[in-house]
Amino acid sequence: MKPIRTFNVRPHLPQRLEPLRELAYNLYWTWNTEAIALFRRLDPELWEQTNHNPVALLGRIRQDRLLDAAADNGFLAQMERVISQFQEYAQPVQTWYQQTRTAAPPSECIAYFSLEFGLTECLPIYSGGLGVLAGDHLKSASDLGLPLVGVGLLYQKGYFSQYLSADGWQQERYPSNDFYTLPLKLITTPQGEELHICVDYPNRDVQARIWQVQVGRVPLYLLDTNLPENSAYDQQITDYLYGGDMDLRIHQEMLLGIGGVRLLRSLGLRPTVYHMNEGHSAFLSLERIRQLIAEDHLSYDEALQVVQASQLFTTHTPVPAGIDLFPADKVTYYVGHYAEAFNLSQQEFLSLGRVNPGAFQEPFSMANLAIHTASFVNGVSALHGEVSRQMFQGLWPNLPPTEVPITSITNGVHARSRVSEPLQYLLDIYLGPQWSDAPLADPLWSRVSSIPDEELWRIHEICRYQLVMFVRSRLQRMLQEQGASSAELTQAAEVLDPTALTIGFARRFATYKRATLFLRDVERLRRILLGAVPVKTGSQQRRPIVQFVIAGKAHPKDNPGKELIQEIIHFTHQEGMANHIAFIPDYDMHVAKMMVAGCDVWLNTPLRPQEASGTSGMKAAMNGLPNLSTLDGWWDEADYVKTGWAIGHGETYDDRHYQDQVEANALYERLERDVIPLFYDRDENGVPRGWVQKMKAALSLNTPQFNTARMVREYAHRGYFPASDRYFTLKENNYAAAKELARWKAHVFEHWYSIQIISVETSAEHNLEVNELVEVKAVIALGALLPNDVQVILFQGRVNEAGTLEEACPTLMTFVGTTPEGYSLYTAEISYDTSGHQGIALQLLPRHAYLSHPYEMGLVLWA
Ligand SMILES: *Cc1c(COP(=O)(O)O)cnc(C)c1O
Repeated sequence: MKPIRTFNVRPHLPQRLEPLRELAYNLYWTWNTEAIALFRRLDPELWEQTNHNPVALLGRIRQDRLLDAAADNGFLAQMERVISQFQEYAQPVQTWYQQTRTAAPPSECIAYFSLEFGLTECLPIYSGGLGVLAGDHLKSASDLGLPLVGVGLLYQKGYFSQYLSADGWQQERYPSNDFYTLPLKLITTPQGEELHICVDYPNRDVQARIWQVQVGRVPLYLLDTNLPENSAYDQQITDYLYGGDMDLRIHQEMLLGIGGVRLLRSLGLRPTVYHMNEGHSAFLSLERIRQLIAEDHLSYDEALQVVQASQLFTTHTPVPAGIDLFPADKVTYYVGHYAEAFNLSQQEFLSLGRVNPGAFQEPFSMANLAIHTASFVNGVSALHGEVSRQMFQGLWPNLPPTEVPITSITNGVHARSRVSEPLQYLLDIYLGPQWSDAPLADPLWSRVSSIPDEELWRIHEICRYQLVMFVRSRLQRMLQEQGASSAELTQAAEVLDPTALTIGFARRFATYKRATLFLRDVERLRRILLGAVPVKTGSQQRRPIVQFVIAGKAHPKDNPGKELIQEIIHFTHQEGMANHIAFIPDYDMHVAKMMVAGCDVWLNTPLRPQEASGTSGMKAAMNGLPNLSTLDGWWDEADYVKTGWAIGHGETYDDRHYQDQVEANALYERLERDVIPLFYDRDENGVPRGWVQKMKAALSLNTPQFNTARMVREYAHRGYFPASDRYFTLKENNYAAAKELARWKAHVFEHWYSIQIISVETSAEHNLEVNELVEVKAVIALGALLPNDVQVILFQGRVNEAGTLEEACPTLMTFVGTTPEGYSLYTAEISYDTSGHQGIALQLLPRHAYLSHPYEMGLVLWA
């Protein structure tokens, strides 16, 4: 039956509870533990049933329960506390941004684009780490007062929810999201009609409406094409996250990039910076260039300067297969009309997404498009930065990989969203409430050592106990759905030991993460689990048993990933194992939160260097868990001695089988020699003193460092502020500087390869003493270019066995005048502070005040 009219029915709240409505619609509550407690207190059962959704809770709660609450002074007092915190947050006296960006341009605005956002479990528009990172980025931007807005898609069915067949094979279910009972607001025109934007696809226009999620002070705008105006195909563009075929993916990415730019414009926003979180949104560059050409009458080259100067791109995968590649004919079909708008040939246009402009067979890479249209590009850990420089080296063919202009900003997590309620309470008391944003250098971190061991340990034990209860209830629910016998249900009510060493592993079941590495030697594992490892147990004589809690989804099309899940389930069915290993179905942000607080150690076994960063280990560390991990991603740069243990030494072997063998062995040894003995070494009060030291080190060293407060500050200082400044510079006086830069670049491109290095002379010949000054003179024929158009850099360093300079250090050479022949003369003085076989090299780069960095044009000359 089709309705003839629809209504949007709002819950009726008693007058005194009215403030709850605004709180329910602002995700601020997701990181205020007292706000969560308040909603739970209204109706604990319904709170669980609604998957922690306060909007649905207020809509479905019985009216008499609301009336009770409105007459309950305890409840009202708690509500007032939360509401006043909320109001203070919404209208701060001074934010970090206001303090830091004192010379901020008046209308600074950063637009952050991502295909997924993980903000809370009741808003299932994320699949994993990328989305959770984007969600935490918004939350910290809000905390810091950054003028940032998010842009994404609102999925009708989102990412799948997971359940398992009795034989352990992953099944997928796609519950439909009811947008009207989620913390979302539809954007309407002043006349009260839905505001629509329109994106042109081949032979038709597609309409989308805009939903807003309020994340503290930061708005997130989400596009939705499920409208009667659209065809059946177009309605389902926003059905699934990472579902469908390549054509659907292109549709989604056009909607995100092109539609996203249009939505900001239709809201009257004029961002000064655009941040592409992964390459999915890179079509936004095309739309921005088109608008600049059509509305501000810039040429393509001029528009490109403006766009590039003001954009950032963050890459998240070190695996080439993880990058969107589209065949050229599809790109021409879907977005080829931009080539006409840009006055480019199709081949020139396609080169925006290629490494080699002339390679007609080369697919179009969204990452290449993003890099070609950004002036700040970064990976998400130091190691991933290195890998990315190698991976994208082809875009800068004249540069050694170390010089490729891709930097790194290590990921983080949002502390207030990730740390368990009781631990937040403890840290607030001992460190003060600023701990959640405080940098590593803040003296408050030294106060971690003053937290009594016993208190920290008891709080952690509460979290473990809560996790075990949670696992039991989830398992029972799963067994009930599978139609299990009552004996099985009874058994599930007793799995795991709330006092035993609990190892956690939860992540996507992508094969490189090697979820089953710990199963490699089943007999040795069984001995470990059953407590056969000898330890000194202090006054408490007990068997040092060990248990695993595991969770994670495999992508619906990833059968090898599903096989790994099944392998684990089969192992739990082995004799005596059900009490030692539990798989929690349907991993989501809530399961993650329970696990990172209630496990004792966080296990991570990716194949180096395929884990770009990894963030669940950071969440665990913030809850005081030591990490046990291969040296990959963030863990490679953490203090893996004080705050946990390393598996292996970061070596890679060509033979994958051998690699697994070596690292599984290293994992068992770590458990047997270090982890288990330390955990079970108790004092007379049952407190494992050595273990608590590791917990404290994890808290004081990793919380400030692997925190999105640190991360977003870094993006602001290194990326957003400079990009915004460049944007304003290029835009002023009707884009005068952009026009000048485009003209100058064209001139330099034309004459660059006529530059000749005539001679390089040194004041000393072959033999030198340490610290002896050497004068270097370079004579260069610049042709049509001026001395100011280039910078000449002298590198000095040790010559290695291969005959190349090592750890070369640069000196900028000074232009001193013109020789009688009309050549330019540059000089520098150098000396060596160590002896040995040393050398020099000379590099020429373009120079202009408006370039964001000297490698922007990809032009380099070496002598
Ligand atoms: C944190 C988180 C992730 C990312 O964890 P990794 O360690 O990066 O794999 C994935 N899914 C959920 C639900 C999370 O909370």
